[in-house]
Amino acid sequence: MDAPSPNLLDQFAAIVGSAYAVRDPDAIAPYLIEPREKFGGATSLVLRPGSVAEISAILALATRTRTPIVPQGGNTGVVGGQMPSPAGNEIVVSLSRLNRVRTVDPANNTMIVDAGVTLAAARETAKAADRLFPLSLASEGSCQIGGNLSTNAGGTAVLTYGNMRDLALGLEVVLPGGEIWNGLRTLRKDNTGYDLKDLFIGAEGTLGIITGAVLKLFPRPKGVGVAFVGVTDPTAALALLHIARANAGGSLTAAEIMPRFAIETVVRFVPGARDPLTTPHAWYMLLEVSSALSQNAADATLEAIFAEGSENGVVEDGALAQSVQQATDFWRIRETLSEVQKHLGGSIKHDVAVPVGRVPELLTRAAAVAQKVVPGCRPFAFGHFGDGNIHLNISQPEGMDKQAYLARWSDMNAAVHDVVLGLGGTISAEHGIGRLKREMLAEVKSPVELATMRAVKAALDPNGIMNPGKVL
Ligand code: FAD
Repeated sequence: MDAPSPNLLDQFAAIVGSAYAVRDPDAIAPYLIEPREKFGGATSLVLRPGSVAEISAILALATRTRTPIVPQGGNTGVVGGQMPSPAGNEIVVSLSRLNRVRTVDPANNTMIVDAGVTLAAARETAKAADRLFPLSLASEGSCQIGGNLSTNAGGTAVLTYGNMRDLALGLEVVLPGGEIWNGLRTLRKDNTGYDLKDLFIGAEGTLGIITGAVLKLFPRPKGVGVAFVGVTDPTAALALLHIARANAGGSLTAAEIMPRFAIETVVRFVPGARDPLTTPHAWYMLLEVSSALSQNAADATLEAIFAEGSENGVVEDGALAQSVQQATDFWRIRETLSEVQKHLGGSIKHDVAVPVGRVPELLTRAAAVAQKVVPGCRPFAFGHFGDGNIHLNISQPEGMDKQAYLARWSDMNAAVHDVVLGLGGTISAEHGIGRLKREMLAEVKSPVELATMRAVKAALDPNGIMNPGKVL
């Protein structure tokens, strides 16, 4: 498609007003830089609408003029879904001004928010009402509820509360033709035909623009215990996970795994970070237990997990956080793992999931095939063990040229994904497809699934204006 004419750009700009139509290249630049600096993009216009009506007018005009639109939330997505194409013919619609909390209803345990509310603000709003909104990501200061929904974000508490799909009861969406669908229902049961909201959740902006959402709230736990545990290998980690679940049941709110190499990297590069245990261990688990009763109850559950794990020879050593500060320090180690790999040079990423019981096999086999692709590479695999979701990142060999290493990205992906698929897994657990994995979709979707997805896209967006080139 050709770039929009200056006259058409003026028409779009007039909808939001010139103050909110960004045309200066310097002011546009931040919208074109994403966390991994992997996906280039270009545009001559970023629109910052301030209301649902403005978004409706933008999409109606886009449909009339066949102008491609890229929705952008907090721009923290890691698969390039929020980036316009390098061709420069797409208009970016930023949701950042749509940032109002509409209502909080503690009696129904729900709140209704605009899509541009940041995750951190949503969590704070819930807290002010003495409730919990459990989604938690390292990017929560910037990412937005609309982006979380569009990527079906996961994070660290999926074990207990589910991912974003499980946390939304209703949506408001502007369809590609400009029609506004008000699906802001606050019901926990509603069996009235197709569940439209589930189409838009995880759609990565390819079916419409989410403008509002009904989010589920939960009671705030009275106590949260956090422990750092050293184990010999991922098989011991799996045994520990089962012990933890048996002792804690639904109150096990996180079970994250990380290798020794990750701890060493954090201690080396993150100012103030310390190894939580006195002796080194090959692998570590971060366990979190939330209690509806008290801090003592949460800690007692973790101690019972330690005791049983030690008795069974699964736990080598462990530390239970003695203060909120120490718990924060433990979590900080986990949360800096994505960022800290930059210090190791190039990193080839895989966001994969396998059935939980097969994670140990995944970690061993993926590390072995990676060595065959680039001998000397350094696996840096960590993540949401309890969900079977591992960020199977692989850092370059020491001293290797970064670009030469990154040039092996597809070969490495092919080898690792082969292992993942062989274990009955998926090549995108929580980050989505975006631009990064579009060509790989056929590896995990059958022809019937792909044809059905295309039929849905064609029905809702017949002119293909919504985020073209992403997902499908
Ligand atoms: P963006 O990046 O702006 O957009 C993401 C996609 O959603 C794009 O396709 C975009 O077009 C679409 N979109 C955005 N808003 C809308 C809307 N209102 N309507 C329709 N489409 C829209 N993700 C996880 O799941 N778990 C993690 O633990 C996690 N940790 C992270 C840690 C760091 C340090 C970073 C940088 C990222 C992490 N992510 C994680 C990825 C990212 O934060 C999530 O994907 C997040 O949900 C994206 O939200 P966003 O508002 O930044 O969306």
